[in-house]
Amino acid sequence: MSRHAVFLDRDGTLVEEAGYLDRLERLVFFPYTVDAVRVLNHAGFAVVVITNQAGVARGIVEEAFVGEAHRHISERLEAGGARIDAFYYCPHYKSGTVEPYVRDCDCRKPEAGLLRRAQADLDLDLARSFMVGDRWHDVGAGCAAGTRTVLLRSGVGRREEAAPPPGLAPDAVADTLIDAAAWILQHA
Ligand SMILES: [Mg+2]
Ligand SMILES: [Zn+2]
Repeated sequence: MSRHAVFLDRDGTLVEEAGYLDRLERLVFFPYTVDAVRVLNHAGFAVVVITNQAGVARGIVEEAFVGEAHRHISERLEAGGARIDAFYYCPHYKSGTVEPYVRDCDCRKPEAGLLRRAQADLDLDLARSFMVGDRWHDVGAGCAAGTRTVLLRSGVGRREEAAPPPGLAPDAVADTLIDAAAWILQHA
């Protein structure tokens, strides 16, 4: 049977929002990050990171650094008994400067391309899955893929919550990822 998943935004959700994260020293876990991921692991969810990394198309970071950051996140989580099943990122940006990343794509949130790729790779049931993030484009990507959605107030979420775009509503709003995990466990 297909697994259910929790798709997590990275910056502002799993780790602190750092503008364009370009050095490992700027990669800061929230105090609850490891616990939240472990709780979702133990509940049987695939935990999948879905992140826009337009800094690649803008020439701020290279794809190799994105991979390095994700290995670093995985190692810290594993040390605490938690696990990310897969990372997916969009390196594109239509107003970027670095070829071949300068383009419109179907994987930059709020498009659902990365969630669909994960669905196919990991045999996930999107209708029983959740997308969690601190920006409306996270909610939009989850809605487009047919998941339930949680908007977080961490990262830039409070500012986002104050300016809801028309036609878009999350299933829940939570202060942090650990609160979202609790809500998901109650509503799975
Ligand atoms: Mg974010
Ligand atoms: Zn893309």
